[in-house]
Amino acid sequence: MLVDSHCHLDFFPEEEISVIVKRFPGIIIQNAVDINSMKKSLIIAKKYSNVKLAFGVYPTRALELSEKDFEKALSFIRENKDNIIALGEIGLEYKESQEREKQIINLKKLLKLAEEIKKPLIIHSRKAELEVLELLKNSKVKIVLHCFNGNTTAVRTALEYGFYFSVPTNISTSKNLKKLVKIVPIDRILTETDAPYLSPIKGQRNEPLNVKHTIKVIAEIKHITEENVEEQIYRNYKLIFE
Ligand SMILES: [Zn+2]
Repeated sequence: MLVDSHCHLDFFPEEEISVIVKRFPGIIIQNAVDINSMKKSLIIAKKYSNVKLAFGVYPTRALELSEKDFEKALSFIRENKDNIIALGEIGLEYKESQEREKQIINLKKLLKLAEEIKKPLIIHSRKAELEVLELLKNSKVKIVLHCFNGNTTAVRTALEYGFYFSVPTNISTSKNLKKLVKIVPIDRILTETDAPYLSPIKGQRNEPLNVKHTIKVIAEIKHITEENVEEQIYRNYKLIFE
């Protein structure tokens, strides 16, 4: 069973969603980025039993919202706690925005909510890797670092904290991600696409089926079979999200 632990199906044209989902023999975690995206995600998950949901507000999207609207999004997540398996996509985005204090306040609120409804977090961190680790190190819920680009020290720190890493499909062109897979034990790794983004083939649209590329690269680095990688990742998925 394949796992795409980070996907944005609602960013695809509607007619393409069924094609992509149906040709994927595994579980897709659809990560919502705001209330609209959560509503679309609910409709998608109703249609396809292999689509599971993570609800969240993307860090820069949250900055565009009034406090009232951000609270509304939190309530929507709480109301849907039985429909979701995680909170995501949430985190800190320091490359596109420098409004750090507000982002930290928002992430703390999301963490509190996750602990209240007992759901793991799927975390985005760009140019904010150390800040994310510091903020989440005492979390009472499981943490999955999506597309983590921290250096070796940051990866080791995250491992010490018990965090998981979901490895994206662009690993084939990323030295840093290959290094990460070398350091991180297989029982802490998940696979993801971030589709439609981060295609393993430059210029092409990404899709869940491309986690096969990631599995191949992980198998080569870890010197185990692709089947073993796939099985272990599915085990990790169950441990984190079920
Ligand atoms: Zn994403």
